[in-house]
Amino acid sequence: MEAQIIDGTEVAKSIKKELKARIEALKEKGIIPGLAPVLVGDDPASMTYVSSKAKACEKLGLYSEIIRKSGSLSQKELVEIVHSLNNNDKIHGILVQSPLPAHIDELSVTLNIDPHKDVDGFHPYNVGLMLLGRGGLLPCTPFGIIKLLEYYHIDPSGKEVVVVGRSNIVGKPIAAMLMQKGKTANATVTIAHSQSHNLAEITKRADILIAAIGRPNMITSDMVKDGVVIVDVGINRIDDADNDKGYRIVGDVDFDRCSKKASFITPVPGGVGKMTIAMLMNNTVLAAELLSLKKQ
Ligand code: NAP
Repeated sequence: MEAQIIDGTEVAKSIKKELKARIEALKEKGIIPGLAPVLVGDDPASMTYVSSKAKACEKLGLYSEIIRKSGSLSQKELVEIVHSLNNNDKIHGILVQSPLPAHIDELSVTLNIDPHKDVDGFHPYNVGLMLLGRGGLLPCTPFGIIKLLEYYHIDPSGKEVVVVGRSNIVGKPIAAMLMQKGKTANATVTIAHSQSHNLAEITKRADILIAAIGRPNMITSDMVKDGVVIVDVGINRIDDADNDKGYRIVGDVDFDRCSKKASFITPVPGGVGKMTIAMLMNNTVLAAELLSLKKQ
């Protein structure tokens, strides 16, 4: 059996297309959704992420304002920037790009973001709403996974979902979303991590396997059952002398072998990674809609 590819590029495109009507409706009310990515320091990967987020805004006709500061910025100064963005009516979404320099406490900064502008969905207010199953602004990568499943009519209801990885940005939130009572949820969820015993025994139970580990090709074909749906969140750089760049990007799953056993699989690149920015755009538009309702 050869798995059907879950095409993140196609799904992200359809999400952005759907957003256009909502953006037009806001524009008719004189509102242009605005995103402020905040970058502290000169980490090259973060610089690339931030500029691709701004580019995505431009393509959709959203306003964006990149706030770029040196790595010596103090925590107090960063919090002041966040407060000024909280009070800036042109900005509906604030995103403080991680990683932050070691002298800055990320959680303290997040706690200062107006939860209604927290388009990353990392503020404990939004994390709490998510856990209660009450929506709010959902974290972009796990929300993107839900959208991928929806698009391909993969219903997790009653299924065994195994999530490998328990990070606050992927593992924990996707597990929380999939165990809710509701649409594209109702799953029986197991979370595995580096301290789990007999990982392969756990992953073999999965009807849907979500790998968010950060270890290249760690999930091998003997760790999954026939017909499994595989969602590979991993983005790992491995050396590749045949590639002009000297490296290539692979996921956490051995795609070549696992795709022969799976019913559906996300490729890397071209899978989950394509969804994160689309969901960020969605959250920025949603934040603008909710903030405009609050003001009425
Ligand atoms: P993370 O914070 O490093 O968490 C990794 C998780 O994997 C941890 O819970 C860790 O367990 C677990 N783990 C590590 N080694 C393991 C092993 N041998 N067996 C079982 N579990 C193991 O990573 P993350 O931020 O969630 O990211 C995971 C991957 O997804 C990375 O490759 C990242 O680049 C990628 N990612 C992609 C997107 C996107 O597509 N847009 C977004 C976010 C992340 P412990 O908790 O016990 O340490």
